[in-house]
Amino acid sequence: MAIRSVNPASGQLLKEYEPLTEAAIERKLELARQAFHSWKQTPFSLRREAMQKAAEILERDKQQLATVATTEMGKTLASAVAEVEKCALGCRYYAENAERHLAAEETKTNASHSYRMYQPLGPILAVMPWNFPYWQVFRFAAPALMAGNVGLLKHASNVPGCALAIERVFLEAGFPEGVFQTLLLEAERTGKLLEDDRVAAATLTGSEPAGRSIAKIAGSQLKKTVLELGGSDPFVVMPSAMDGEIARTAAGARCINNGQSCIAAKRFLVADSIYQEFERQFVEAMKALRVGDPMDPKTDIGPLATEKIVSELDEQVKRAKTAGATVLTGGKRIPHSGNYYEPTVLTGVPRGSDVFYEELFGPVAMLFRVRDAQDAIELANDSPFGLGASVWTRDEREQELFINGIETGQVFVNATVASDPRMPFGGVKRSGYGRELADIGIREFVNTKTIWIR
Ligand code: NAP
Repeated sequence: MAIRSVNPASGQLLKEYEPLTEAAIERKLELARQAFHSWKQTPFSLRREAMQKAAEILERDKQQLATVATTEMGKTLASAVAEVEKCALGCRYYAENAERHLAAEETKTNASHSYRMYQPLGPILAVMPWNFPYWQVFRFAAPALMAGNVGLLKHASNVPGCALAIERVFLEAGFPEGVFQTLLLEAERTGKLLEDDRVAAATLTGSEPAGRSIAKIAGSQLKKTVLELGGSDPFVVMPSAMDGEIARTAAGARCINNGQSCIAAKRFLVADSIYQEFERQFVEAMKALRVGDPMDPKTDIGPLATEKIVSELDEQVKRAKTAGATVLTGGKRIPHSGNYYEPTVLTGVPRGSDVFYEELFGPVAMLFRVRDAQDAIELANDSPFGLGASVWTRDEREQELFINGIETGQVFVNATVASDPRMPFGGVKRSGYGRELADIGIREFVNTKTIWIR
């Protein structure tokens, strides 16, 4: 089946690509194997130079790259430009810090000299989603390549233009051929690729079913994986944080990237005493968001990435209503060409209903009342996911309770959840395992080798 690039704002087919043939996949795998052989011996200084150059190219071409993302998956152009800038930041972070993160570390033992060192593993398969079509890839590739691994990208089928653009950036930056390759493939072909002996390990960012499938195959092959999966992040508001801004911040946290972010706030847990006022302001803030053409700088929310995503979201809202939820605003597709959905606020989604435990990947928020911090923690943790949490309180005792009690990979206090190259990123429970970014991220795909000299 052809891989299609379709503009979600209009439904227009932009371009069709033929998936790679078996012979082409074989050539690319062989090239990756050979490229790894020399890349792993390339000194950090040369890797650093190429990674710095990649950052410069990203900055130089950010408008053009952003336009490809916006026309393929619908994020606003301004947010696409910011995403490309963040990729440049990620490249610079690892260009500057990789050697330090991977320096040998001495440990005093009864040996005359004992230390650990880090060596690359080989070709790493990266299965990536469309929602941050550049950042998800660069946050894998910048550390992996700086560590001396080589990358094989299987990107989401709806962003082939972005996938090919990333490969061009690395080639132009001076990475030798084969160090980073984009493979236009269907999801069904990915398993066989992972089974190939030349592929050393895999990382997947995406949905739970895709994660399970990759983990199962990798498990049967005894290959390391990192999984960054879905989330249903809580956004907790306590009385001390109630001010004129918080509801607007909350609406922004829900609708970032048209609501299609793993770390978007999805469940809003609000203290009883401020609940009514928060609800009123939040509904106003969601209504005020402008839905429209993602190329227009005045637009807050563009179309959802595919027809399937918008119809699944609509179906979830309908199921929530059937289960007893009330729609305070929105709740429908916007009759318009393109995959537009109204910013929506739901209350009374029953705990125990299916939708309560699902991820809503679009501009749909669920509001809940909580008695106090402890009650908020209990509700926050009543989720199969454990990616991020944003908690708003000026009370230091409550802050401590949230930091210690919420079961997620990251807790942001008085700030919305975001990734930063300097801090580890990842989840627990069904949000996945392993970490990206920072020193821990670059050490996911290396052999930590113990050296003991008597
Ligand atoms: P998806 O359908 O799982 O797709 C992600 C990638 O996996 C795509 O390249 C897809 O290829 C591939 N894929 C799907 N099924 C597969 C299978 N059975 N075997 C091998 N590969 C498979 O997810 P999505 O809808 O694109 O992305 C949204 C999800 O990603 C949400 O749940 C979101 O929360 C999560 N996400 C998580 C993070 C994080 O850091 N934790 C970040 C961003 C997104 P095709 O496109 O060809 O199907």
